[in-house]
Amino acid sequence: MPKETAARRGTNLPRIADFNQAVILDAIRHSVDGLSRVELARLTGLSAQSISNITRRLLGRELISEGQRLEPSGRGKPRTLLQLHPTGHFAIGVHIDPTITTVVLLDLLGDVVASAESLPASTTSPENLVDAIASQVNELVTSQGVTASRVLGIGIAAPGPVDTKAGAVLHPPLLPGWERVELRRLLHEATGLPVVLHKDAAASALAELWRGPRGSAGVHEDFVFFYLGTGLGAGLVINGELLGGSSDNAGEIGHLMVDADGPVCSCGMRGCVGAACMPRTLVDEAASAGLITAPRNDNDPREIDELFTQLCDLASRAGPESARTAAHTSVRNLDPAVSREARARQMLELSAARLARGAATVANLLDVRAVIFGGPAWSRIANVFLPILQDTLLTTTEARQIHDVVALGSSIDDGVGAIGAGCLVLEHAFSTRPSTLLLGANS
Ligand SMILES: [Zn+2]
Repeated sequence: MPKETAARRGTNLPRIADFNQAVILDAIRHSVDGLSRVELARLTGLSAQSISNITRRLLGRELISEGQRLEPSGRGKPRTLLQLHPTGHFAIGVHIDPTITTVVLLDLLGDVVASAESLPASTTSPENLVDAIASQVNELVTSQGVTASRVLGIGIAAPGPVDTKAGAVLHPPLLPGWERVELRRLLHEATGLPVVLHKDAAASALAELWRGPRGSAGVHEDFVFFYLGTGLGAGLVINGELLGGSSDNAGEIGHLMVDADGPVCSCGMRGCVGAACMPRTLVDEAASAGLITAPRNDNDPREIDELFTQLCDLASRAGPESARTAAHTSVRNLDPAVSREARARQMLELSAARLARGAATVANLLDVRAVIFGGPAWSRIANVFLPILQDTLLTTTEARQIHDVVALGSSIDDGVGAIGAGCLVLEHAFSTRPSTLLLGANS
C-alpha cells in the first residue's frame, strides 16, 4: 500500500490553469518586468507553438496582458512583454487575531486593492465573527465594482496550530470559547466562496514569498518568517516552497528554550522563546518593574496590546546611556539607577537577545539565508530588536563562513497576516505545486 500522505490531494478551490498554464503563469509572475514569448519558451522548455496557444488563452481570460514592446537590436521580430493582468482576478484575505480582524481584497499581483477591519476575535463568538466577515467581504467586493466571478476565493490566516484538513482553528490562546471552530466551512456557507485556511505565520511567509523583493541573491528562496503577534510562530520556506510538515503545522517554535533564567511560560517551563518576546510577558514584566501600569484584565488582548504600545513608546524615548547594556543579563538585573525609559529599552533588548538565540537555532536547523521578522507586534519593536537580531545571526550561525544569514524586517507592514491569507488563494490558483497548501471549500 502506498502511503496515503504521498498522494497528491484533490481540492475544490478552482485552479486557474492546467499544469503548463501554471508553469507559464508562475514564470511570468516571478519576472520583474514581464517575459516575452521567446523568453518563456526558453525558460519553460515548452514549444513555441504551445507558448503561443497557452498565452492566447491566458490573454483571453484576462489573466495576463501585453506590456512593453521591445524592438529587436538587429534583424528579427519585435518582442512584446507579457505580464500578469492585475485586475483579471482577485483574492480575499482574512486575518483572525485576538486584537483585530482584518479583511483585504488583493489583485493578482498580491497588492491590496481595498481593506477593512472587523470585530476583534476576542470580543465575539465565532458565528458572529463569520457573519461580520461575510458582510465585509461583500462590501469590499461591491465597493470596488468587482464581479463575483472574478473572486477566486477567501484565505483565512489564524493563530496556530490549525487543522488544515478540517479547515478548523483548534484552541488559539486568548480566544476563550474558540475550541475546534470549523471556520472554513462556516465562512464558505456564509459567502458561497471557496475558502482555504492556514496558520498566520505560514500565511505571512507566503506573503513574503509572493510580494518580497525578487532576485536578492536567493534570500527569498530559503528563509524563515518569525511572526510576532499575540504569540510567536514561524513560517518556513525552503527552495521557494512553504514547508508544511505532516499536518501543515511546521514552525511551532514557541517553546524553544532560549534562556534558563527567562520568564515562566504557559507550558510550565522557563525561558521559552515565545514567552520571552510575547507582548503579554513583556507587559507583565514591565508592570512588575513599575514601568507601566498593570493590566486590569490579564486576559484582555486589546488592553495588553495598548500597554505593550506604551512600553515600546517608553523604550523609544530612551537616551543613548541605555545602549545595549542588558542584552545578556537577566531582567532581574536591570539597572535601577537609569531612567524608566532606559529600563524599558533594556527590557526590550533582553527580549531581542532571547529571540535572536531562537532565530539562530532555527536558522542553523534549516540552513536558511534569512530570517524575516514581522506580524502585528513587529513595527513597534523593530528599531530596538533588528540590530540585535542582525548582529547575532551574522556572528553566530554555523554556516556563516559559507553564506551570511541576515535578519530582515518584513517588507510588508503589520497587515502581513491578511495579505498572506489572500496569497494562500493566489498560491493555490497559480502554483504548480498546490498540494503544499491544499483544501478548498467542502462544496
Ligand atoms: Zn513554553
